[in-house]
Amino acid sequence: MRESSIVVRPQPIGSHTYTESSRLQAAGLLSATALFEEAAHSVAIPRAPQPIAIADYGAATGYNSLLPIGAAIAIIRKRTRSDHAILVAHTDVAGNDFTTLFTTLADDQDSYLKKDSSTYASVVGRSFYSQLLPSDSIALGWSSWAIHWLRKVPIPIPDHVEVSHSTDEEARRAYARQAAEDWRDFVAFRGRELAPGGRLVVLTVGLQSDGSSGFKPAFDAIMTALAQFVDDGLVTAEEVRRMSIPSTGRNEAAFRAPFHPSGRFEGLEIEKLEMIDGEDRFWSQFQSDKDERAFGTNWAEFLRASMFPMLAAEVDADDDANRGRDRRSKRRRQFIDDLTASVAAQLTAAPAQMSIPLAMVVLAKRRRSA
Ligand code: SAH
Repeated sequence: MRESSIVVRPQPIGSHTYTESSRLQAAGLLSATALFEEAAHSVAIPRAPQPIAIADYGAATGYNSLLPIGAAIAIIRKRTRSDHAILVAHTDVAGNDFTTLFTTLADDQDSYLKKDSSTYASVVGRSFYSQLLPSDSIALGWSSWAIHWLRKVPIPIPDHVEVSHSTDEEARRAYARQAAEDWRDFVAFRGRELAPGGRLVVLTVGLQSDGSSGFKPAFDAIMTALAQFVDDGLVTAEEVRRMSIPSTGRNEAAFRAPFHPSGRFEGLEIEKLEMIDGEDRFWSQFQSDKDERAFGTNWAEFLRASMFPMLAAEVDADDDANRGRDRRSKRRRQFIDDLTASVAAQLTAAPAQMSIPLAMVVLAKRRRSA
């Protein structure tokens, strides 16, 4: 299944890099939103005055959450009185840009707060690899483009920055183990948080049938740039060797693993699991405007916002205090700028469509009477 339509969004308020570069993230959002709406139709609604709680796991600036959550609220409103309170909890790690999230909620014309006066917003600044919310409290959970982030780099990937493109068996095994543990824990904690009859919709990175998690032209450009930087003496081979993105795609078997053999895990079962091809929206744009430079720049900016700082963290990582922080942060900034410029130039010179394998999973918690 390939998505046929594009989410057209107005320019966001605020100027956060993630928000501005996250349009690609909208790949898959339409299909997952349709599943979230279905979930809102069938979810168990608590009795008023107990609020109907919706959790958003890995919200970032909240920009891409507005439409799915707004759509679910619209459906819930058809099933409830207009004054039955809805409480939305946006969660992310403590260092997230919550200020932009609050501004988005307050000002964006698509904010659900502007549309429903009995809906309230809150945030939790804590990793979703722990229990974040009270047990049995959440009617609907949403998580998009977040749980491909592992809780840590298991081990450095010596021959690449992304594990599915690596041929190093030890790295591949370590990543697969971490991916399994992280998915299991994520599901287990959500299993506690969801209310009986609750639903969780997850949109995340999938895997192609050859085991790759896609984005090949982008990764090729990154690897070419890094080799060039080593030749030019901008970074050392050792710094590049340690650069690893703690992200993973998962295949159907990986999603199902915690549910074997009974089909149930922590009170949850998989109600739906679909692997889809996400649309490369920068490619679609390029098909109509034939602007190679825009294609290269859009991709480079997306990668800069989503992964280059992680690679830059290995520049001068083991430097001692003697040489100073200023020098280190200057080198890192320079590295990010150079990498962005090189990747933009390469993708401008040879535009190529990215494959974006995605997975959508709907988990359901058994009703108490079942
Ligand atoms: N849901 C949004 C944002 C995705 S960006 C969208 O669809 O566009 C991924 C977000 O996941 C980032 O904000 C990152 O901080 C968050 N994230 C990654 N690991 C996390 C963890 N362990 N706990 C909570 N949030 C996490």
